[in-house]
Amino acid sequence: MLKILTVPAFQDNYLWLIHDGVHAAVVDPGDAVPILSALAENRLALAAILLTHHHADHVGGVPALLQRFPVPVFGPRGENIPQITHPLGEGNRVTVPGIGVQLSVLDVPGHTSGHIAYHAREQDWLFCGDTLFAGGCGRLFEGTPDQMAESLEKLAGLPEQTQIFCAHEYTLANLRFANEVEPDNMALKARIEREQAKRDRGEPTVPSTVGIEKETNPFLRFREQHIADRLIAAGHLSSREPIAVFAALRGWKNSYR
Ligand code: ZN
Ligand code: FE
Repeated sequence: MLKILTVPAFQDNYLWLIHDGVHAAVVDPGDAVPILSALAENRLALAAILLTHHHADHVGGVPALLQRFPVPVFGPRGENIPQITHPLGEGNRVTVPGIGVQLSVLDVPGHTSGHIAYHAREQDWLFCGDTLFAGGCGRLFEGTPDQMAESLEKLAGLPEQTQIFCAHEYTLANLRFANEVEPDNMALKARIEREQAKRDRGEPTVPSTVGIEKETNPFLRFREQHIADRLIAAGHLSSREPIAVFAALRGWKNSYR
């Protein structure tokens, strides 16, 4: 029976440990220190490292982990991460050493140009780094709006019950923006209350699910006419072409406080 441990790091990152009680694989270890403590506390041996993209808050702990555990490193073939032993891209399937979980790899460019996500179909788990967030999406550092929109629609096409293990706790800020975009979305209002209550209790809002995101995340809902209407009314949009809507939404979020 596989389980997932949530390991908070830095200000608002989540590092994920997938384990079977003996061995573990870590997703995006930006910092080795909290991972080494979580492994020790739970008496787990590291068996693999999985990376989604090259940013320091996702790969910074890799060298220190490899010193303690010389394990295989899986990661995007389209990005320059020197420690990768198993480069991956769209359509690749991986059986993770030690824990045996089967993952399918999806190319999800946009935040970075080679960003990948890992989907565990049997468990309904998705590890998507900084592509899809609870209530939002990653910034476009290297990719274009049409790449990001296509990547997000690919993730939205996974089964509704798929649990989304993204890499940051940005949910409340994302949902505050979502509410600005869709003030009449009742599912969104209910979600804001639920997520606020979790934060008040000191709990993570992650994982969410594909079903919840499709109902409340404006970056998966940019084809809805009323979202284009709202962007036009707020002065952020001149064309109703869907990718223009997506780009305007992302641009508005960048400057929203
Ligand atoms: Zn990033
Ligand atoms: Fe990040």
